[in-house]
Amino acid sequence: MRLADYTTVRLGGPARGFVRADREEELIEAVRTADASGEPVLVLGGGSNLVVADEGFEGTVIQVATRGVTRGTDPGVLTVAAGEEWDAVVARTVAEGLAGLECLSGIPGLAGATPIQNVGAYGQEVSETITRVRVYDRTSGDVTEIPREQCGFGYRTSRFRGADRFVVLSVTFRLAVRVRSAPVRYAELAAALGVAPGEAVASTEARSAVIELRQRKGMVIDPADPDTRSVGSFFVNPVLDGAALAAVEAAARARCGPETRVPRFAATEPGLVKVPAAWLIERAGFGKGYNPGDGARISSKHTLALVNSGSASTAALVALARQIRDGVRDAFGVSLTPEPVLVGVTL
Ligand SMILES: Cc1cc2nc3c(=O)[nH]c(=O)nc-3n(C[C@H](O)[C@H](O)[C@H](O)COP(=O)(O)OP(=O)(O)OC[C@H]3O[C@@H](n4cnc5c(N)ncnc54)[C@H](O)[C@@H]3O)c2cc1C
Repeated sequence: MRLADYTTVRLGGPARGFVRADREEELIEAVRTADASGEPVLVLGGGSNLVVADEGFEGTVIQVATRGVTRGTDPGVLTVAAGEEWDAVVARTVAEGLAGLECLSGIPGLAGATPIQNVGAYGQEVSETITRVRVYDRTSGDVTEIPREQCGFGYRTSRFRGADRFVVLSVTFRLAVRVRSAPVRYAELAAALGVAPGEAVASTEARSAVIELRQRKGMVIDPADPDTRSVGSFFVNPVLDGAALAAVEAAARARCGPETRVPRFAATEPGLVKVPAAWLIERAGFGKGYNPGDGARISSKHTLALVNSGSASTAALVALARQIRDGVRDAFGVSLTPEPVLVGVTL
């Protein structure tokens, strides 16, 4: 097997071993057995946030394929097995009149991966509705429940990210029981829905609008659309303090003209702002469709998505990412951080 067949960017060499775990006990047992023999483990969900080396993975890949959604006595509470397809979960909650996940429609991958980087889009993050995460702890060998307050959620991060200690078994969400969406915070989505930011709409409408916006940007996997052969956004939006923002503004004015205004939006941490990585990348000279010619290119629909045009290697994709990162650093002094998990490669 080649991991390219299991990643949305269709890249990645072979793995030494591959186990598919359809039941939770199989998942725990597979990890436990590998750990006992010192075999490196890569837990695989939908492969939508993974960049794997061309050389592959020297260890065992354990594919999470557990299924099941259970309801609590509280009608807004549901516990989702790690292997459930994320967008099907969102579709189901919207259809059942539960609000809180509708803006996270159209995101590929599995439910168990959503806490890892605190999946977010269009003004919602899973950390707002997750109440606990059930995990297998590879250090203690126990199955435990981690309440939201101990998950270390932040912007595209959590205590699970970059740490191999926990295997997510299931995730519990508490959603609002109503057919109206959560207040629409994201300006672009509010405009598409024809409402003012902060207003609510029917959750079904919010879901459709999000999917339409995402499709236009190549952010919904579609085998017929080569721009979707990606890991989604390759870089996270940099979070800057006042001094760093001032330096970017000065660089932007010098580079793009004295009237230039650097876009920004509020970060969760007080006093900090997020600057769109896409804006920096474009102003550094890498526009949509930028193609250095070795199979990896920027999506023609979305500056943040690096695409395998069909003939790319992981090395080519990473080389493009490096070129962009270095270009932005040279132009604006900002060091972009990759969003996907890199396996066997570094930037
Ligand atoms: C077209 C496209 C659009 C995207 N849009 C968004 C977006 O809007 N917002 C956003 O946040 N992300 C987005 N992503 C990124 C990605 O979809 C999410 O990060 C998703 O949650 C990854 O899920 P996955 O099952 O594919 O994880 P994988 O890619 O399989 O794994 C990602 C990481 O999580 C670990 N992991 C997976 N499952 C488990 C588990 N059960 N226990 C422990 N570790 C686990 C893996 O080991 C790996 O380190 C997008 C990706 C694509 C391709």
